[in-house]
Amino acid sequence: MSSEKQRIVVFGSIVQDLVSYTDRFPRPGESVRGNTFKSGSGGKGANQAVAAARLGANVAMIGMVGEDMFGDSNIKDLKENGVDTNCIGRTNKTHTATALITVNKEAENCIVVTLGANMEMSPKIAETNSSIIENSKIVMCQGEIDEKGNRKAFEIARKNGVTTFLNPAPGDANMDKSILDLVDVICTNENEAEFITGIPQNNVEDAEKAARAMVEMGPKYAIITLGSKGVLLASKGVENIDHIEVKKVEAIDTTGAGDCFCGSLAAHLIAGHSMSSSIRSAANIASLSVTRHGTQSSYWKIDEIRQKYP
Ligand code: ATP
Repeated sequence: MSSEKQRIVVFGSIVQDLVSYTDRFPRPGESVRGNTFKSGSGGKGANQAVAAARLGANVAMIGMVGEDMFGDSNIKDLKENGVDTNCIGRTNKTHTATALITVNKEAENCIVVTLGANMEMSPKIAETNSSIIENSKIVMCQGEIDEKGNRKAFEIARKNGVTTFLNPAPGDANMDKSILDLVDVICTNENEAEFITGIPQNNVEDAEKAARAMVEMGPKYAIITLGSKGVLLASKGVENIDHIEVKKVEAIDTTGAGDCFCGSLAAHLIAGHSMSSSIRSAANIASLSVTRHGTQSSYWKIDEIRQKYP
């Protein structure tokens, strides 16, 4: 996977996660004491880039961070995971994006995401980096940056025969669905599938209907992840919906599992595996990530996976 064209380029978000674990959430105006604190590099774009790179894929990230210590540490973590960071810009107009996460005793969370530098991921940034997009095999976008930036990245990709992969997370009911005309592969969870298709999601049959509806909206492949219940695949022109099962694991923290799935899927596709075999592998790799705490830190490396599943 060393040639340039065999590259995945992620056009997406970089976020510093700041997590406090506390007994209960504070009421307005109140301070409560936290029990433990963890911080780490995150953002859906960066998470997906790391998941793919940990499997040995050639991955470059196009992103924006501030000229601050969070920008430094996020770039350092991406580099340490083997992601090419040459196309990550730095701005002094705003800060690196942050997610202030509070987790209570019931493991519920409250999150405030301040997008800062991610909102500078404009169409101009896609144009400035058009040559790396044109010369890659897959471009991956998510829903955590300026929608217009994603559109431009996909337009450049389409003109150059680069596969476009959209994970429209976190779900947004106001998303401009016309972008689906530019998408080859869409990957959602049930909530996002509901936002996109308007089909309420209560069971696997509803998810099948949503997967079918999504391929009618443009993409060649529509994939819906169903947590421990596996993954659905609808393919354009194929009546049957594939239901791919996932190996059972003891889940302790599912944060970032969707990103692990997307990055792992892209890594398998670029290595030349079929869509259904890539989904099977990605689902099992994502299920391993839920057996560890954290987001990027929970993603297994290729050697560990080979040991687990020889
Ligand atoms: P998140 O928002 O937490 O990142 P998501 O809602 O986008 O996740 P899920 O469908 O929950 O995505 O999970 C993605 C993949 O992770 C699943 O397809 C599956 O492979 C794996 N996974 C998630 N939860 C579990 C679980 N409890 N047991 C086994 N595998 C799981």
